[in-house]
Amino acid sequence: MTQQFDVVMIGGGPGGYIAAIRAAQLGLSVACVDAWTNARNKPSLGGTCLNVGCIPSKALLESSENYERALHHFAEHGVRIGEVSLDLGQMLSRKDRIVDQLTGGVAYLFKKNKVTSFHGHGSFAGRTEGGFAITVRQGDTETTLQARHVVVATGSVPRPIPAAPVDNQLILDNEGALAMTAVPKRLGIIGAGVIGLEMGSVWKRLGSEVTLLEAMETFLPPVDEQVSKEAFKCLTKDQGLAIHLGAKVTRVERKAKALKVHYTDAQGEKSLEVDRLIVAVGRAPNTEGLNLASVGVQVDARGFVEVDEHCRTATPGIWAVGDVVRGPMLAHKAEEEGVAVAEQIAGQHSHVDFNTIPWVIYTAPEIAWVGQTEQQLKAAGTAYRAGSFPFAANGRAKALGETRGFVKILACKNTDRILGVHIIGPFASELITEAVVALEFRASSEDIARIVHAHPALSEVFHEAALAVDGRTLNM
Ligand code: FAD
Ligand code: NAD
Repeated sequence: MTQQFDVVMIGGGPGGYIAAIRAAQLGLSVACVDAWTNARNKPSLGGTCLNVGCIPSKALLESSENYERALHHFAEHGVRIGEVSLDLGQMLSRKDRIVDQLTGGVAYLFKKNKVTSFHGHGSFAGRTEGGFAITVRQGDTETTLQARHVVVATGSVPRPIPAAPVDNQLILDNEGALAMTAVPKRLGIIGAGVIGLEMGSVWKRLGSEVTLLEAMETFLPPVDEQVSKEAFKCLTKDQGLAIHLGAKVTRVERKAKALKVHYTDAQGEKSLEVDRLIVAVGRAPNTEGLNLASVGVQVDARGFVEVDEHCRTATPGIWAVGDVVRGPMLAHKAEEEGVAVAEQIAGQHSHVDFNTIPWVIYTAPEIAWVGQTEQQLKAAGTAYRAGSFPFAANGRAKALGETRGFVKILACKNTDRILGVHIIGPFASELITEAVVALEFRASSEDIARIVHAHPALSEVFHEAALAVDGRTLNM
């Protein structure tokens, strides 16, 4: 029997599940179709983010940082704990428990909001009177749904490279990188982007020798240049990651128990022997088996579902959000698009401002930014003033023992409106929210300079950076 809904979400990651909850809150009848099956062969909502992305990676980053603190930093605080040893099994099962709690939480939220959940692969089966037919396939079972609106939220998958085919034994994608059951002595990573740096940090802290091979000559091109320079120094000199820029991997040779990675750089041909290799060269939109053509939905040259600024495809009634469409591949961007689409389907107005989406890289120190970089302002010929302040001059950072990095604020020279904020330092992921609020409320650097910030707090560095825009820091 065909089941009828106002809206069907295909995909239960942050884009789809948040859209489903918001649409249900607005009184629509909603179904969400999701195909994710976890390592125990159980349906698991939450997509890449909850299962093999944001959440498990942050769990391991936190655990590995604790291990490193216990090994190298507790003594400095006068805390003597004797011999420190690693229980990797416990670390991994803690991560898995967090994932289970949160994916189970999405199932609970669906029940609470009366979202009907279907487990299986969804695809378009064509148009119907007043909407679309969607087939949900699970093994040999097929169910047909009908809906007035469909939201495609099928996310992304790791981008493969022919030189290093992933088997998740020796050559790993993000899923394998989060589940190694022993610490490899030598770990290679292709791609020094966000995943490469976060996963490299985890395994380096746990004891691996980590080498990253990055094709570009520039380190972290989207990041403000002053921040990327500081990050390169911190990650290589302090953290001990070996990062080779301009390294093009040509092939990977499988030896008995190891891998030989052949690459070329400015000096010619080179090779690197490793025990495990992570491939983290970006992600590709996932539209496999959706049968988009049957409903007139196009993908662009890079495979992203084509949408306008309101996430509408060319077919009225079909929308797409998250990693499967243009824009940054970030969970909070997917969620905001999901909310905006649900509200539009319910007849409201909503939109997502890409200029105020924050980025965070969870290395140590953390890197976070929002708005424009100094290089973007220069290229656009925008007149600006910059103000920076180092964490080294902040009491709370000293108490934490995390004094690397700075906050930098870029403000329009004529109006003083804040155009971009760039942070490298402790808890940058939390501090960036003040910058997002400032950009959303079109604050000037003087507004921030006049706001009382608690003492002693890391946010005082943000305050001082705002004062620095006008050349009047108080604590330096
Ligand atoms: P996804 O989360 O990929 O969800 C798509 C869902 O759709 C999946 O469950 C998939 O199985 C399902 N699906 C696909 N096709 C079908 C179909 N035909 N039928 C039924 N179901 C289908 N972002 C951040 O903002 N912060 C972070 O710290 C962060 N860390 C990350 C760490 C790693 C290692 C990785 C890989 C990613 C990370 N990301 C992070 C990115 C973030 O995970 C994605 O941007 C986010 O998950 C995108 O959400 P989405 O809903 O578009 O897609
Ligand atoms: P990425 O785009 O961040 O980095 C990929 C890197 O690989 C780039 O520096 C690129 O130049 C390099 N590269 C590409 N081809 C290469 C090749 N053949 N050899 C060597 N280097 C090559 O992609 P990612 O690290 O795979 O992460 C995918 C996406 O997931 C990110 O863009 C981000 O949107 C999301 N993510 C976000 C977070 C976060 O928000 N903290 C964390 C992890 C992932």
